[in-house]
Amino acid sequence: MDLMKAAVFRGPGIIQLEERKKPVARSGQAVIRVTTTTICGTDVHILKGEYAVKAGLILGHEPVGVIDSLGEGLEDDYFIGQRVVVGAITPCGQCFYCLNSAHSQCHGALGGWRFGNTIDGAWAEYLLVPDARANLAPIPDGLTDEEVVLVTDIFSTGLSGAESGNIRVGDSVAVFAQGPIGLCATLGAKLRGAALIIGVDSVPARLEMARRFGANVVINYREQDPVAAIKKLTEGRGADVTIEALGQQATFENALRATRPGGTLSSLGVYSGKVAAPYDAFYAGLGDQKIVTTLCPGGKERMRRLMAMVAARRVDLSPLITHTFGLDDIHEALDLFSSQRDGVMKVALKPAHAIEALEVVETSALTTK
Ligand SMILES: [Zn+2]
Ligand SMILES: [Zn+2]
Repeated sequence: MDLMKAAVFRGPGIIQLEERKKPVARSGQAVIRVTTTTICGTDVHILKGEYAVKAGLILGHEPVGVIDSLGEGLEDDYFIGQRVVVGAITPCGQCFYCLNSAHSQCHGALGGWRFGNTIDGAWAEYLLVPDARANLAPIPDGLTDEEVVLVTDIFSTGLSGAESGNIRVGDSVAVFAQGPIGLCATLGAKLRGAALIIGVDSVPARLEMARRFGANVVINYREQDPVAAIKKLTEGRGADVTIEALGQQATFENALRATRPGGTLSSLGVYSGKVAAPYDAFYAGLGDQKIVTTLCPGGKERMRRLMAMVAARRVDLSPLITHTFGLDDIHEALDLFSSQRDGVMKVALKPAHAIEALEVVETSALTTK
């Protein structure tokens, strides 16, 4: 029996490295050998017990890898050894929701999010990909794992915040929180043609990064009231579009207060507990504001588009990967990521075989010199 190493959720606060059976691809499915993955804020929510998943599940939903085996029916479309990205969201492409363009809600609320939620995820040496034809996205030649791993979730999610907010050329946009998702939303606002992009956070290094990702003004909310500052920058109106990228009552409320009448609050955060819209900020429900929510768009066509932006050098996500760990060091990686120490943004996680392969490449590069 083929075994693989995996990081398994065993209950709140517990991730265990275990030997698991290597998955087998059935008709329409594929197995990829994971070469790089990462940790998401959502995984931290799961670990804290704020979002419930089954004990025994392999977590992780941001896979880059190489096709290891293909189930029946895929031989004409893909080949063994092909490098692919698979989105965090893996829609089937055929159900009621998919055919109504709500791919992330495939089969029902949040149903498109399967890896590390309802089926085994990417924190493992091998990953079973369901509905492979809708979800395996070949990586353009010349792009590294580090350049594409963040399209699977945070770039897709951040950009979707700007897209769902329907940002128009010349808009003013305020993005609340400049973590990895917020930074990608800031980048999304720039790509959509916003004129004024305001990044809000309290960490100087993140505000600095916000400038690199397209913010022309940054606000440290510990130093000044962000709502008053945003109104001042927008002739007293508030921003045309605000994006909430943290998932807390305070940022939701501030974002709403900073949205002009008739404007849009585009919410990306994952909330735990209740979210309330305050009466005054909501203009008693009569202010013509739109509140929209978005779950990360997935599927191979979305991945193709985002990787095309990377390949064309229109975006560079690699500065967001600040640290690299072996999958065996998952506890250390989780500790660093969840504590936000040492300027960490995103970590690259690599199974042992991927690290060995890198070492072989490096050694052979040395010996051929
Ligand atoms: Zn995620
Ligand atoms: Zn579907």
